[in-house]
Amino acid sequence: MGATQTVEPSDVLVVGAGFAGMYAIWKLRQSGLRVRGIEAGADVGGTWYWNRYPGARCDITSMEYSFGFSEALQQEWEWTEVMAPQPEILAYANHVADRFGLREHIDFDTRVTAAHFDEDKRQWAVSTDRGTTYTARYCIMATGCLSVPNTPEIPGQEAFAGEVYHTGNWPLEGVDFSGKSVGIIGTGSSGVQAIPVIARAAKHLTVFQRTPNYNMPANNAPLPAEYRERIKQNYAAVRAAQRLAQIGVSEFSRGLGGLGSYPEPTESILETTPEAREQALATYGFEAIRRYHDLAESPEANELACEMFREQVRRVIDDPETAAGLMPRGYPFGCKRPVIDIGYYETFNRDNVTLVDLRRGGIERITDSGVQTAQGSFDFDVLVYATGFDAMTGALLRMDIRGRGGRTLASHWAHGPKTYLGLQMSGFPNLFTVTGPGSPSVLSNMLVSIEQHVDWISDCILTLDQQGASTIEPTEEAEDDWVRHVFEIADGTMLTAESCNSWYLGANIPGKPRVFMPYVAGVGAYRQQCEAIVAAGYRGFVIS
Ligand code: FAD
Ligand code: NAP
Repeated sequence: MGATQTVEPSDVLVVGAGFAGMYAIWKLRQSGLRVRGIEAGADVGGTWYWNRYPGARCDITSMEYSFGFSEALQQEWEWTEVMAPQPEILAYANHVADRFGLREHIDFDTRVTAAHFDEDKRQWAVSTDRGTTYTARYCIMATGCLSVPNTPEIPGQEAFAGEVYHTGNWPLEGVDFSGKSVGIIGTGSSGVQAIPVIARAAKHLTVFQRTPNYNMPANNAPLPAEYRERIKQNYAAVRAAQRLAQIGVSEFSRGLGGLGSYPEPTESILETTPEAREQALATYGFEAIRRYHDLAESPEANELACEMFREQVRRVIDDPETAAGLMPRGYPFGCKRPVIDIGYYETFNRDNVTLVDLRRGGIERITDSGVQTAQGSFDFDVLVYATGFDAMTGALLRMDIRGRGGRTLASHWAHGPKTYLGLQMSGFPNLFTVTGPGSPSVLSNMLVSIEQHVDWISDCILTLDQQGASTIEPTEEAEDDWVRHVFEIADGTMLTAESCNSWYLGANIPGKPRVFMPYVAGVGAYRQQCEAIVAAGYRGFVIS
């Protein structure tokens, strides 16, 4: 594999030092295993290390988007806001690394380029861009679902003479926008978070929007000490509830003060009158449509809600043309990852912000001074790509991963990702993915899913060691059945609607197979299946 230096063998290699890799290193070392971490970045934190763009923060309550594996950790850490900003989450990741002594087990600034399974030695050989080769019995890919920034290919890209940034790979030293005009492409979660903050800092901001979203207000706020203490006192119950909840967020946040939560969906929109809908809009604004429980049940119900949403955009935005440009149309509410905003719509009432609705004429090329579209040219000093990620499969397929018989992961996944439980692939023994495609993953509170996967993998490795076994991998049949199950359960829902071009479907990357990748049954139901499979002697796996 062209490597020049061989590192001392480990029992387990962990690729990636975001929350998944950090927890995996800690957990497996608790069992006395020799564990080595390898991370492309210069430090821990993963998502929160790379995504330092202005406005970045989590979109669920931080009291719940945090590790539950250590009672001491969750008692000592003080979140200051309902949804913590990126610097605070990165500080938390650093605290975890310090507290549990993780850094000495991680090689930073090292990117894994290949991982090959040696069938004779029954071990993985992992090579890196530093020319090193690592070997281990097990390899855990904690490489992240949203860790490969997507920069779309647009003609003329290299010609732009100003500064260029991507939200997913933001400079460590930050960016000074003062006195500068800025163009930003993309209005997904990253763009929606960055736009209000950049607009306040820059001389002028031009927003290039291809698809408007159904954004919801974040309802972020400083975290009252009393609320924090009540959650801390109830943490055992909060964590237990998360593990069984549909998306890994408990009802405790709502019960304990209602911070960062949405109205309960208690009504049927199809049974409302126009007057009742008007009343709901007047009372709840954008969140009014969260009150209805039947938006997923029929296109008519969904479209009624979408119309309410557009009406609210009309009310909030001063300029009618800008309002029309911000109105989402032609795809259902709920088919994409919900986008949470803080003052996003109001930003378009500022004098220094221009919306370019690309539905009226798309981007043709990037010039030396800006962006040329079918509706005119726009010049600026700084170009920001908020254009998302090659999600879920991107980081794995960027490595040359080869299993039995030299079979590549790229060929195994040629028609979309195939896994058993999102944890393993047939023909790739002892290789594990954390929050891989085919698991609840990005449809859940990721910290809850990360802990569940790492615990499962750790138990699995210990079981094999106890049995004196050397390899585990799923049967092809179990993998095929799981892939079919993942597909069937999402099929016919809004998530797979023809009109929905979400990254869950790979639709944001040209040429990527259109396959719905996460598992929609929910965190609790999925966990029960994983446990049942183990209880049945690792049903669907071959242990040898
Ligand atoms: P990551 O944090 O992505 O870490 C993976 C690490 O692997 C990275 O550091 C990367 O450098 C490294 N890596 C990848 N490939 C290689 C390689 N070949 N060699 C060496 N190292 C490699 N989820 C939520 O549940 N709630 C939220 O509010 C939320 N907000 C988010 C906000 C943003 C801006 C983004 C982008 C994602 C958000 N997510 C959120 C999802 C988030 O990715 C997860 O919550 C979580 O941080 C993922 O942790 P991870 O360790 O699995 O992956
Ligand atoms: P994204 O949701 O994929 O959004 C990318 C944006 O770029 C979309 O508006 C897309 O338009 C646009 N785009 C892509 N290529 C384009 C092109 N060639 N021309 C014009 N526009 C183009 O990516 P993201 O905003 O980075 O978010 C990804 C995920 O990360 C989120 O869904 C979420 O899971 C996570 N995240 C969470 C938070 C949070 O609030 N905690 C913040 C950031 C990210 P189209 O829609 O038309 O494709």
